[in-house]
Amino acid sequence: MLSLAGLSLMSAVALSVWLVVRENLSSTPAPALTARPTLSESNVLPPTHSDRLLVPMADHATHDLASIVSADDVPSSRRVGIVAGHAGYDPGAVCPNGLTEAEVNMAVVRIVVELLSQQGYQVDLLEEFDTRLKGYRADALVSIHADSCEVPGASGFKVARVTHSAIPEAEDRLVECLYREYEAVTGLPRHPNSITDNMTNYHAFHEIDPYTPGAIIEIGFMLEDYAYIVRRPRMIARGIVNGILCFLQQNP
Ligand SMILES: [Zn+2]
Repeated sequence: MLSLAGLSLMSAVALSVWLVVRENLSSTPAPALTARPTLSESNVLPPTHSDRLLVPMADHATHDLASIVSADDVPSSRRVGIVAGHAGYDPGAVCPNGLTEAEVNMAVVRIVVELLSQQGYQVDLLEEFDTRLKGYRADALVSIHADSCEVPGASGFKVARVTHSAIPEAEDRLVECLYREYEAVTGLPRHPNSITDNMTNYHAFHEIDPYTPGAIIEIGFMLEDYAYIVRRPRMIARGIVNGILCFLQQNP
């Protein structure tokens, strides 16, 4: 749950305006609110992303107001968006040997795009702050990131969707498909206790059309999972593609 105590005055004003406007739109459904995942403080790892990937709280109001559209508007396009984490923006996490997260992400993303295209999907390869993200409509959007080299002993992957989802059931299915298929293909363990606000309030979730199911996956740690995520990008990509297909085949 988000606490009002943490809001700045400007945020509170923005939220008030939003609430008033939203009440006047009584014929449209409000986005469902769901609880944040409970984080065990002792298990939370330091965030590996720059602050810009996290949307400030005041922006939620803007997003939710913009999100009030009819689900019937959205065509089934067999289109999928894949965000290459940090592409066109920054290197992301950097290992002591110079290996960057952006390189690792892009190597996987290129194969994901290739495999989904072979399945007949129109696939958009999107940069981290791609201008096409604004109002982006597709059958699914998945952003691909990797965790840093800075956590010795940490191994595994995790998947999240936006905290305040307009389509929580669909996004939960997408997350679950990605967990299940990625785990089955790669054999990597789940590492859900390191999910942070950088994932659940990931900026792209607040830019895309709210009826586009979205998820972010952290494919593994660049130190302990190097042999998987750097050396075997095709296997990593296959795990992600199988997760996306699992979801899309439930939603033809
Ligand atoms: Zn990242």
